[in-house]
Amino acid sequence: MLEERLASVRHRIHQACQAAGRDPAHVNLLAVSKLQPAQAVRQAQEAGQQAFGENYVQEALDKMAALADLRGATEWHLIGPLQSNKTRAVAEAFDWVHSVDRLKIAQRLSDQRPAQLPPLNVCLQVNISGEASKSGLPPEEVAQVATAVAVLPRLRLRGLMSIPEPAQGLHALQAPHRALRLLLQDLNQRGLALDTLSMGMSDDLEAAVAEGSTMVRVGTAIFGARPTHAA
Ligand SMILES: *Cc1c(COP(=O)(O)O)cnc(C)c1O
Repeated sequence: MLEERLASVRHRIHQACQAAGRDPAHVNLLAVSKLQPAQAVRQAQEAGQQAFGENYVQEALDKMAALADLRGATEWHLIGPLQSNKTRAVAEAFDWVHSVDRLKIAQRLSDQRPAQLPPLNVCLQVNISGEASKSGLPPEEVAQVATAVAVLPRLRLRGLMSIPEPAQGLHALQAPHRALRLLLQDLNQRGLALDTLSMGMSDDLEAAVAEGSTMVRVGTAIFGARPTHAA
């Protein structure tokens, strides 16, 4: 079940890489386990999955505690909105944060990242479709914020993340992913050495891989439909 779905997602990534002439080793799979029980994460880990994405800080901390025995074999990524009052817990517990959308949040994470841990990997979240309701930096502000975040001592700026608005058809699905890729390219041309494009989910991972995604965030296609309440 879960094992088969995981294998099928890996197969889709593989096929998408082949179609795009890309090396599958350059596309990481982040298993999005929000609202799924710790036991499902354990099962996925036993099936060879290492990186897990969570949206809600307290739920993630509870799950990490329940899976403390796997800490060395798992990597935890925060992909949901992050409020200032939660930055300390995140800086202390996570390996990555994909949803940094303000310099102030980045500064707090850097200040609060414990000295004995490696720098926290971060991506800037970009509101690539320009939706008024969506979080994320407007594309025109990304270069300025990235330049400031890149020098924070306890963070390692890795790249950009986006959640495009839903669309139909490969072409429409690819457009926002292409825009994010060009934005990353622009930052690299300005001298930032960024290696991560966090884009693509269950329904659009092929389009994202075609446009250069290096990390797809897949929930439903691995774990099945999400329960409406955390277990
Ligand atoms: C829930 C979520 C995903 C996974 O979505 P699926 O459609 O279940 O694959 C990916 N990224 C973010 C930011 C999410 O909140």
